Amino acid sequence: MLTAISGINWGDEGKGRMVDLLSADYNVVVRYQGGNNAGHTVINERGKFILNLLPSGILRENVVNVMGNGMVVDIKHLSEEMARLKAAGIKITPDNLKISDRAVICMPYHVMQDCLEENRLSDKKFGSTRRGIAPVYGDKYLKKAIRMGELKDMAALKERLKGIVEWKNLTLVNVYGAQPVSTEDMMEHLRVYGEPLIPFICDTGLYLNEADKAGEKIMFEAQLGALRDIDFGIYPYTSSSNAIAAYAPIGAGIPNRKLDLSIGIMKAYSTCVGEGPFTAEYFGDKAESLRKAGGEYGAATGRPRRVGPFDVVASKYGIRMQGADEIALTKLDVLSYADEIEVCVAYEKDGERVTEFPFPQNLESYKPVMNTFKGWKCDISKCRKKEDLPKEALDYIQFLENAVGAKIKYVSVGAEREAYIVMY
Ligand code: GDP
Ligand code: MG
Repeated sequence: MLTAISGINWGDEGKGRMVDLLSADYNVVVRYQGGNNAGHTVINERGKFILNLLPSGILRENVVNVMGNGMVVDIKHLSEEMARLKAAGIKITPDNLKISDRAVICMPYHVMQDCLEENRLSDKKFGSTRRGIAPVYGDKYLKKAIRMGELKDMAALKERLKGIVEWKNLTLVNVYGAQPVSTEDMMEHLRVYGEPLIPFICDTGLYLNEADKAGEKIMFEAQLGALRDIDFGIYPYTSSSNAIAAYAPIGAGIPNRKLDLSIGIMKAYSTCVGEGPFTAEYFGDKAESLRKAGGEYGAATGRPRRVGPFDVVASKYGIRMQGADEIALTKLDVLSYADEIEVCVAYEKDGERVTEFPFPQNLESYKPVMNTFKGWKCDISKCRKKEDLPKEALDYIQFLENAVGAKIKYVSVGAEREAYIVMY
């Protein structure tokens, strides 16, 4: 059984929270793309955790966690994240964490390059998390990247690294006027942070294939939402990898297998971190009220998230791109503060109503068309059954289902593991 948990919107939908909840029935949780630009917050009986690289299944004792070949791994960040979790009493051993030998290492010069480029772009910046993600994926496709499995042969690695460093310095020095990096320093970095990871590195595709054949249940955890997917998102304001569910078997190392279930995590309103067109964006007091109610500050960066009402056009597109069979609607409790709740039901451009998500060039020129609903104005965070929800909340859910053409199976009404409702 292969299940993907992916984001319908721009990310931060609560994927980590839903993986933590739904992984109870799974044997394996796999991250299949992205790097430590992810920030997945999980709150359960063991505490509050923010995970950047480790799959959210790491918090469950009997779940095996896999970091797939589609990922980019900052090994220093991973070491620190592992140490932080271990200090909180979380067990991490080669038995419950497996890192793909084909996953790519995000090097210090990738982080440098990311910062140098964002600074060069100045007010035209992409809103990168400055963690080296775009440069390292770029290098992967230029075939100038180092993979985790190469740590097992340091002598051969040093030979390859020499050529790569020589090439990278051409850019750092001549394009950006920065200091060059040295092969020795980079080797030292790989030794210090890479060597302790060697016991975790293996052919995770083979492992997953065997686990699947043995009837184990495998869950894929996406980082970011459909609208940040490199191919289908708001390019170029996307991430540099495929966050969509269809990529999960590839980024995990089992391209021979198809997904059995795709669960889309959809937020009850919209948020977006970083730059790029965000059609239904709120500004001023309206934005501040929603941001405060939802605690919308980035888990990875602490940046205030841009906020807006639920966007039917973008979400319908996200559901289609994720092939979502089931939907989990998250953070519904956040809207309890509002007298009225708006929903962006269409876009408008040159007097024309647009209901299919457009090619993202000139997306800024589309205006949101809003519908307004009566709020429920009461605390719903203790509701655990459909019948507990006030009529206005049920009406809102029903409206969203009809508008996006998908059934909402789970409604999350709080950040804690047990704060959810199964709708059918
Ligand atoms: P992810 O990147 O998709 O895993 O989402 P993030 O963890 O970045 O952002 C979601 C935030 O909302 C986190 O702080 C969660 O603890 C919190 N959260 C998740 N689900 C709910 C919910 O239903 N209600 C509330 N109030 N908070 C939630
Ligand atoms: Mg996040």
